[in-house]
Amino acid sequence: MAYYIRDFVSAGPVLSPRRPTINEFFLSSYTLNIYTGCELGCPYCDSWLYSDRLLNEIVRVPLDLPQRLAAELEQVDRGDLIAITALSDPYQPVEQTYRLTRQTLQVLADRGQPTLLLTKSALVLEDVALLQRMNEQSLAVVMTTLLTVDPRLAERLEGKAPPPALRLEMLATLRRAGIPVGVALLPIMPYVNDTDSAIRSLLRACAEAGVDFVVWDYLHITNERHRVRINEILARLGSYPVSYYRDIYRNQPTVQPLYRQDRDSEFLTRCDGLAVETRAPHRIYAGKLSPHNEASLLLKHAAFRDRAAGRERMAVLHRELADVVYAGTPDDAALRTSPLYPTLRQVLGRTDAG
Ligand code: SF4
Repeated sequence: MAYYIRDFVSAGPVLSPRRPTINEFFLSSYTLNIYTGCELGCPYCDSWLYSDRLLNEIVRVPLDLPQRLAAELEQVDRGDLIAITALSDPYQPVEQTYRLTRQTLQVLADRGQPTLLLTKSALVLEDVALLQRMNEQSLAVVMTTLLTVDPRLAERLEGKAPPPALRLEMLATLRRAGIPVGVALLPIMPYVNDTDSAIRSLLRACAEAGVDFVVWDYLHITNERHRVRINEILARLGSYPVSYYRDIYRNQPTVQPLYRQDRDSEFLTRCDGLAVETRAPHRIYAGKLSPHNEASLLLKHAAFRDRAAGRERMAVLHRELADVVYAGTPDDAALRTSPLYPTLRQVLGRTDAG
């Protein structure tokens, strides 16, 4: 168990600056981190990059965060989604003592602010009534991270996190309660959870749990420190070819395009076969975000599919349009270049939320 330190928000806002482009995985314009530190301490977590080695030993509890957030929300558009997805799990064990996530959700609910939570913990089920209220008023989405459905591999990759089967059961329960749910298959690690059979098992389990959508991305090796951590994980799991970084990463932080293309194609084929959506479907957020955000997401999600289908120019066009629309200055002639034009016109024709 970690040490808990009662604290106050240090200088500066609690919300991130508004994103320059909408986040197509989490539908978000802002990110919010509730606790500082994460007891679950998953070795592959990006949070290790932003913290010292005490990430999972000390958790700071900023008691005034809900009040600070309430004040900051006055300046936030009610059609912008806040994603509680960053750097720590909002339902890690400390939540049982301080209920800071619950208090934060109450602030977001009072304001009618669309919200998305990413958690591995079934403790979220204790707030299901609040989430239902939020989803009725605006939008509340819950996602979990899943790397594998193999309990032995999960134990070695993220031994302190709840087992994958429990996470999927939690999503199924939320879904039955009317809350939209998604799975973040993050990160996909070459040679660890990227084989055809691993992908098939993961997606089949998601389909059986009835999740509304999945997203995935590949392990980023942002710096030398992270690379050392990843090497330790690989060493614990078994032997890996020396070509690991040379061929798949070529000393870059991200995987090579050919590798990405190949694995993306496997994911997409499996998702289509199982009728699993590969981004949050429109029905989840239709009319619940500002028209500019909604249209921007439709364009980004279309760009993702365009790229996968080899429609490279259309993918670039849709991505560029998405950013223009998000910034709020869509030009009708530019919109007409997209096959989505009738839907975009309809969405943008609505009065802005809030
Ligand atoms: S639960 Fe999430 S935030 Fe916490 S250490 Fe694991 S991956 Fe990082």
